[in-house]
Formats: sequence, structure tokens, C-alpha cells
Amino acid sequence: MKYVIVTGGVLSGLGKGITTSSIGLNLKARGLKVTAIKIDPYLNCDAGTMNPFQHGEVFVLEDGGEVDLDLGNYERFLDVELTIDHNITTGKAYLAVIEKERHGDYLGGTVQIIPHVTDEIKRMITSVAESANVDVTLVEIGGTVGDIESMPFLEAVRQLSIEVGKENCFFVHTTLVPILPVVGEPKTKPTQHSVKELRAVGIQPDAIVARAPLPLGKEVRQKISLFCDVPLEGIVSAPDAGSIYEVPLILNRQGLTDYLMHRMALKGGEADMKEWKSFVDRITSSRDLVEIALVGKYTHLQDSYMSHVEAFKHAGARANVKVKVRWIESVDIEKRGVDILEGVHGILVPGGFGDRGIEGKVMAIQYAREGEIPFQGVCLGFQLATVEFARHVLGLEGANSTEFDPKTPYPVVDLLPEQRGVEDMGATMRLGAHEVVLKPDSKARDLYGSGRVYERHRHRYEVNPAFIPKLEAAGLLYPGMSADGRRMDVLELDGHPYFIASQFHPEFKSRPLSPSPIHYGLVSAALKFRG
Ligand code: GLN
Repeated sequence: MKYVIVTGGVLSGLGKGITTSSIGLNLKARGLKVTAIKIDPYLNCDAGTMNPFQHGEVFVLEDGGEVDLDLGNYERFLDVELTIDHNITTGKAYLAVIEKERHGDYLGGTVQIIPHVTDEIKRMITSVAESANVDVTLVEIGGTVGDIESMPFLEAVRQLSIEVGKENCFFVHTTLVPILPVVGEPKTKPTQHSVKELRAVGIQPDAIVARAPLPLGKEVRQKISLFCDVPLEGIVSAPDAGSIYEVPLILNRQGLTDYLMHRMALKGGEADMKEWKSFVDRITSSRDLVEIALVGKYTHLQDSYMSHVEAFKHAGARANVKVKVRWIESVDIEKRGVDILEGVHGILVPGGFGDRGIEGKVMAIQYAREGEIPFQGVCLGFQLATVEFARHVLGLEGANSTEFDPKTPYPVVDLLPEQRGVEDMGATMRLGAHEVVLKPDSKARDLYGSGRVYERHRHRYEVNPAFIPKLEAAGLLYPGMSADGRRMDVLELDGHPYFIASQFHPEFKSRPLSPSPIHYGLVSAALKFRG
């Protein structure tokens, strides 16, 4: 087993996740089997209990794991399906050690960070690597080198590199090379300091991926090479790219893949990047534009909706159009009215929790329904499309979800029966992939090209089955259901050019070369609507 370990220095947000995904894709293109693990140095056991404002979107895996959004990048770039075990957090590692201690597994011993927690971390990494049955496992360590939080993880991978042999471990360090506006000269000092920090914990990087606003010339790379004791081939310049999907090509061009494979004695074939390149060409060159409003409550941090943004890029590449997202904070619709939606060619109301901005979302849905503007709802957006229709078409005044109005006279959205009595908040929703059965004559069935699909869920509430006959009689159809027929999963508005919502999240399974069908449908309908 070979490991590529990616660490980060200087500051966070340099695109370690994209670097990791890109290296993985490049190795995969050479015919190697790869997988990736994300380490998050926080005490939460998983990302499920965190507000998207903290670290961006909570990504949901096939097995129901609620994980860091970088796993979404891995899945999209590597076209694989990962499991909850591919996201290791401090909380998870400590919990495992503490449970063993209570069980008596260390009886007589003093339980310590080294070796007990570091052993547990190594065990978690190697067991994922072994069960994935791959040639290379990429391990991305979140946070910035030098933080107290990431110390046990750095120590664990240092030990791992000794255990598996240094020739089987390749360390990539991502840093920032700022270019000061006044001097205009790239500054390597932060990189030097950060590598010094890394060496202080016993790790010598094999490669440095240096982020900078512009490409770095040979002189700067030579300087980094000299001061950081890394061969020149290992110093890679990662300038700001037009698209994250270009990064694998940028790294390849500078020979990082060849260097890495040579250093680890990995054998592979010629890189097959044809399809990927043509995908990148299509997203970077299409000039035609449609504008889609994303009406949410976390729009000030766009990473909160990362999978939707990526799904629109995938859908746009297939439809040969650039999708521009108009970010709309739903409370702004409450304050200023639906005018702020004017001119958009489509509207997406994504998932969410809590009552802030709910009425603004309902207003956006009404605007889309009445104005025949292409509309897609996801999860909360699906539930609110039901609420809007119940209020304004069925005339059920005060209809609502019991999540927002427990005393509503018309609970058209209600708690899932199995959720009653559930008190813990971590990993207790209806989560992960469930089978959805689509009726033959529905738009959803056409878009998926199949009557049975697996899509990922994350919810506590559902459309109340008691109201279905009334809703359907008035034209809001529910042609997608769980396999047992008990859960509503898709709705479509009869007679509207494109009005589809799903209880599940199609964005999580969208891939560059196989876009989410419902996002693709929205983008195509938006193109038609624009004319
Ligand atoms: N808050 C809603 C529920 O729990 C919707 C969840 C979501 O949009 N992910 O069912």
C-alpha cells in the first residue's frame, strides 16, 4: 500500500481538497486504483451537527455518512463512492480510544495521546486503505501545520511513513506564495516558515504545491527548492485557475504525477485524460449564459451550497452553457419582495433547517409557479413547494411544516413517524441512499432514464401522505416514492414547463461526466425559457 499525504501550511482555504482530488485523478488516469481519506481535526464526531457557516456544506454519502465537503470533491473527481470511514475526525479517534479504555482494553496502562490516540488514527487510516483494495490511498490532513489540533494526526502519519517505509509514503505540502501589490515580487518566506514547522514535527515534504495569484517562474521555484530541501521537480506552481477542474491538468503539465510515480516506484500506463479535457474545455469555453437564482439562507458562504454549484457546472457542460448563479438570501425576498428575482431563467430552492427565511422561499416558489419559471426544489425546497401549493392553490390557510409551526391547522409536512422520540441530534436523520421508484409517465422518469434510482437523503420531516389525494387532484403530482410507497420523494406540477422537486439531494451524486438529471433538466429548461 502506498500513501500520498497532503498537508497545508501558511493559511487555510488554499485548496488542499482540490489538490488531493487532482493528484488522485491523475493517478487514476494512469490506471492506478486510488481512494482518499479526509482528516478533520475537530472534536465533532462527524460534520452532521455543524452549521454550514462553519465549514460549508455537509456532504452526504451513500451510506448516510454526514461528512466534510472535501469528500464531495473526492467523489466528483475520482468518480468513486466513499463511506463514512473515509472521514476521520478528532472526535471519532478519541471516542474510539475512550470506549476501549472503558471496556478495559488497556487495563493497567496509562492511556495517552502517544501511542494510544496515534495508534487509533493509524488503525483507522490503514483499515480504510486495506478495505478499499487500492494501489494508492490519499490522506488529506485538514487545518494548518502548526495548529495544536492537528498535532496527533501529523505524528500519526509520521509514524505511518516509518512503518510502511519512506518509499511508500509521499508528502505533499500546499502553501501560499503571496505577491505583494507594491513590490510585485512573489514572496517565498511564508512557505519557508511553514516547511520549517512541518520539519519540526519530523516530516520532510517530497513536493510543495505553491498557490499564488500567478504562475511562479523557475527562479522562485528554485529558491523554494533550495530553502525547503525539496528537488526542483517537486516544486509545483498552482496559480489561480479558471475552474477547479483544470487543476489536475495544471499539476500534470508540471510533471508532478511522473515525479510522484517515479519516487514511489509506481507503474502505470499512458494518462487517459481525453474526456476530462473535453469537459474542462466545455466549461471554460461556453459563452452562452443562463442565470439561476439560488434562494437559500447560507448564501453569504457559497461553500454552503458547493454540490449545487458543481452540479450546475456539470449540467452546464452537458448543455453547453455557462450557469451563472444569482445568490439570493431568502430573508431579502421577505424584506424587498420577489423583484430581486426578476430576469432569472430558473430558480432553485435547496435544503435547509430552521425557520429563518422560510417565507421568502415560499414567495420564490409562488413566483416560479405562477410565472412559469423553471423551478427545482430540494429537500426543504420540496417540502415548501408542497406548503406553497397547499396555501395558495388548495386555499389551506396557515398550511405549514410542523418544523416551523407545530400548531398549524394543515400539517402538510410533518415529522417522519420513526423520528418521534428521537432525542440525539447526531446521525439520527433519515440518511443516505434509498431507492426511489419513479412512475412511467413522469418527467423525472424521463430525466433519469430509469424507473428505479438510488438517491441520497437527509431529513427528519416528510410530505404528509394524508394530504396527497387533495394535492394530486389539484395538479401537484407525486410520481416518485420510496420503494415501500410510504414516503413521497418527487413532486411535479402538472402543466408547468419545469417544476420538479425532490425530497432527496440529487446534487450529491452529480459528477462532471454524468450530471444530476434534475439539475440538468433545470438548466435545459432555463435555456428554453431564456429563448
Ligand atoms: N429541515 C427539513 C427536514 O428535516 C429539510 C432538511 C433538508 O433540507 N436537508 O426534513
